[in-house]
Amino acid sequence: MKRREFIQRSAFAAAALAAQPAFAIAKKPKVIVIGAGFSGLAAAYELHQKSYDYVVLESRNRIGGRVFSHMLDERENLVVELGAEWVGESHTRIRQLCEEMRLPLDNNQMDTHLIYANRYHRNGEWGYSEQWKTKFDQLKKGYSSLSVAEKNKLDQMDWWRFLNENGCDGFDLRIHELNDTTDFGETIRQISALAALSEYALSSVKNEMDFKIRGGNSMLAKKIAERIAMEKIILNCTVTKIVQDHSGVAVFCSNGQQFKADKLICTMPTFAMSRVEWSPLLPEEKRDAMHALQYARINKNPILFSTRFWKDENFDLLTDMPAHYFYHATKNQRSQKGALTSYTVGDKADVVGNQSDHERWSLVQLSLQAGFDSLAPLFEKQVNYNWGEDIFSKGAYAVYRPGQWTSLQKVLRKHFMHTHFAGEHLADWQGFMEGAINTGEEAAHALM
Ligand SMILES: Cc1cc2nc3c(=O)[nH]c(=O)nc-3n(C[C@H](O)[C@H](O)[C@H](O)COP(=O)(O)OP(=O)(O)OC[C@H]3O[C@@H](n4cnc5c(N)ncnc54)[C@H](O)[C@@H]3O)c2cc1C
Repeated sequence: MKRREFIQRSAFAAAALAAQPAFAIAKKPKVIVIGAGFSGLAAAYELHQKSYDYVVLESRNRIGGRVFSHMLDERENLVVELGAEWVGESHTRIRQLCEEMRLPLDNNQMDTHLIYANRYHRNGEWGYSEQWKTKFDQLKKGYSSLSVAEKNKLDQMDWWRFLNENGCDGFDLRIHELNDTTDFGETIRQISALAALSEYALSSVKNEMDFKIRGGNSMLAKKIAERIAMEKIILNCTVTKIVQDHSGVAVFCSNGQQFKADKLICTMPTFAMSRVEWSPLLPEEKRDAMHALQYARINKNPILFSTRFWKDENFDLLTDMPAHYFYHATKNQRSQKGALTSYTVGDKADVVGNQSDHERWSLVQLSLQAGFDSLAPLFEKQVNYNWGEDIFSKGAYAVYRPGQWTSLQKVLRKHFMHTHFAGEHLADWQGFMEGAINTGEEAAHALM
């Protein structure tokens, strides 16, 4: 069973589908879409294809939102991702769109090395114990036969506790902590066991770390914008106030621009949503849910080196050191040079994100020391993006803590008056580009 099917059969599926128009409108409604991330662009593309009148308002000076490709070396044409990195094998809609837009997907699977307790272990030389592997396989297989009540109960527990209760201990548990914390972006002591087990049980073998769009993931945003026409997207337009009444919706921006429409699709992350003045106020249960939802702190620090000293094109490396996780960020991009991204999460992301470039580079060298020495002569340059400080999301993607997966999401998904909500945080493929696209398209369909 795919993750989508699971959600649709689960306890809160009914609420997810409740986003129906409040009343029938004879003519096609005029629509405002807030946000030109993947959910806003996907919504706009649907509206465009069905000949709706719409406009997209985007606060940043660029499209793509949390998909943010960066040209690290222009001469060598080396592009790295400051936001979303991997397209998953199971992510059918984004793969379809890439095909439609003639964007090739390159294999981006990695073979993981480890630095642990100051020792370097190459890929294949380390792993979970046989005993735990067998047990974990059983747990993943058993997931599909859990009842709704059992899933709801599982949601009350954190992933660390669940692993522990099921006999995962010692090195196995430490590796899960390092690995799964990288995936969720915060400590697994704060992650719903339901969210984690469903991800493990329903994801591809490489946990949806399978492909990347050639030329950078932002290429998809660019292609969609070209299809719908860039004039439909107004950049540098920060929405500050939303007024809804019987006649429709009025949107006010900090640059003085105002827009009126029949319907609104809001794709802002919850932090940005809470900074907008809503009139009338959003329902109390939605405001409470917005305040309860946290986003993962992730810091991305791609570093350009004169040679690919890690040798293996599929190189990634988990560490128990401050710089946490590294991966080859320029796989499939031809050059002598190459980039490794240092990827830190949770408290480590706060520490690394707050340092100067000089200090960050020291931490990287320290973290790699057990495997790779004397890197200074190979260093060329670095960039850094700390998503915990991003002014719109204050994090990389939503983190559903114990008890929240089955309670908050259904509230956040509910439409309010003329407004339909979309975005990664509302998706069954939550935390992924796929989820953002799915919810954007669903919001567009809901008002058609
Ligand atoms: C570090 C990191 C790693 C990730 N890794 C992966 C990965 O490997 N694979 C994967 O599939 N996904 C990954 N993701 C998640 C993926 O990037 C998101 O799920 C997806 O891009 C979210 O899209 P969205 O449209 O929901 O939100 P956004 O992209 O945030 O779009 C919302 C838009 O609304 C705009 N906005 C906000 N407030 C206002 C306002 N007041 N007025 C006007 N505009 C406003 C914002 O500027 C933004 O452009 C990662 C994300 C990050 C940050």
